[in-house]
Amino acid sequence: MYLSASSCSNHTGSEYRHTIFAFGTLIEITLFNTTESKADDAFDHLERSFHDYHASWTPWETSDLSRINESIQAGNRVSVPKQVLPLITVSKDLFESSNGLFNPAIGNLINLWQMHRHDEASISPPDAADIARLVKQNPKMSDIHLDGALLDSHNPGVQLSLGAFAKGYAIDLAMEYLQSRGIAHAVINAGGDLRVIGQHGERPWRIGIRHPREDGVIAWLDARANESIFTSGDYERFYMHDSKRYHHILDPRTGYPAVGAASVTVIHHDAGIADAAATALFVAGPEHWQEVARSMDIKYVMLIDTDSAIHMNPAMQKRVHLANSETSHIVLSQPL
Ligand code: ADP
Ligand code: MG
Repeated sequence: MYLSASSCSNHTGSEYRHTIFAFGTLIEITLFNTTESKADDAFDHLERSFHDYHASWTPWETSDLSRINESIQAGNRVSVPKQVLPLITVSKDLFESSNGLFNPAIGNLINLWQMHRHDEASISPPDAADIARLVKQNPKMSDIHLDGALLDSHNPGVQLSLGAFAKGYAIDLAMEYLQSRGIAHAVINAGGDLRVIGQHGERPWRIGIRHPREDGVIAWLDARANESIFTSGDYERFYMHDSKRYHHILDPRTGYPAVGAASVTVIHHDAGIADAAATALFVAGPEHWQEVARSMDIKYVMLIDTDSAIHMNPAMQKRVHLANSETSHIVLSQPL
């Protein structure tokens, strides 16, 4: 078992638990029905993998991804390393199925908004002219052309930023690894976004959904075997400026933070798809989430709008327990 500044492990009964800091969040891994030595080996491996993924996929430091971005900007062809290629191919598909609302090609816009500085008092929205200039470049995942592992983009305005998808995808890779080691029962929880494989004892894995405008939870859900539950919210990275909320989920069509939704929770078996879909449905907002959910094949959605009304499809309503059912305003959609 190891303990370090960025990780800790513990063992209770037949559960083995280990926490890793990666992708800007604490990632808690719980394993069931395994042995201590298998758990230790797995934690050791996953600790290294999460750090490697992060180091390879971050656009903010020199990385595999930043080198790809430099080549795109320079108009050069580039060979994509093995550990990055599937993220790009899957992201291209998710861009299409989300009608372009999940668009990790908008790295220049994401960079312009500087949301990682949201805590600084001096932060303010970028100039409208700069936003308009980047939106006009119209960067799309479909501008990227892949010939095997060789990538080029005919649009130099494309810059990849995988923050809406990478964490989910990394969790899928981690689960694949655990299964390959004969570990069939596990939960990986990254700050409330999680995936479950197999079973664990009698208790379901219960997850609270934060109220986007008040302290505490608005609802909770039980995760079943082989499900991922992901939430995107406007309360995670945001700042107020002239009494307006500016948050980190951008509408690629306007270049501004998406309006209408305060949080979106989705359930899907695949964590990468759940992660991308939560972001895309947030951008789609209360009027359009259903059509995007259908085209992304998402069967369970809860969207809380900026007036705290809860929009759900009937299948999701059966899964959701409201913390305060008397005061919650529910808008039930057609089945998806
Ligand atoms: P979190 O990172 O809090 O889990 P998300 O999964 O919704 O939240 O990802 C949001 C991040 O994705 C943003 O911080 C930004 O880097 C990037 N992003 C913002 N808007 C979009 C978008 N429309 N499509 C793809 N990525 C986006
Ligand atoms: Mg996401």
